[in-house]
Amino acid sequence: MTFLERTTDARRFRQWEGNVEADYIYTSGVAGERFFVALRDDGKMLASRCTACGLDYLPPRLFCEDCFLELTEFVDVPPEGRVAAVTMAHLDRRGTPLSRPQVWALVTFEGIRGGLVHRLLVPPAKARVGLAVRAKLKARGDRVGAITDIEGFEPVRS
Ligand SMILES: [Zn+2]
Repeated sequence: MTFLERTTDARRFRQWEGNVEADYIYTSGVAGERFFVALRDDGKMLASRCTACGLDYLPPRLFCEDCFLELTEFVDVPPEGRVAAVTMAHLDRRGTPLSRPQVWALVTFEGIRGGLVHRLLVPPAKARVGLAVRAKLKARGDRVGAITDIEGFEPVRS
């Protein structure tokens, strides 16, 4: 059966053993690259702005989700955000138990649609929604233009 043919008889389906190459390179895109360059070089986070809707997006994107306008304007994300959701990780990404649970949070910023999921740098008992936080960045010379340039979000000390 070729690509363009169709069958309604499931008994005609066949299978074969084998391997399929599935290596991908996923790029951050134009807006994502701008975000990571600003993070690396200037130690700040950028959002993209829709001038028609007045919406700011984090992570930044190239097109407005509401009106589809191409977004060419970028604005600084406020330094202080709020924890919108928290969770604990007890296993690493390979399924190996962690020695201590890691706290992860969705951090949102006033006036910005979206947010960032990252480590929350507090003990699990101190993790809570509504906590005021700011990004803790690696030292400038250690930043490489990746999300790991942010070590995590830590409580704002007042
Ligand atoms: Zn828009």
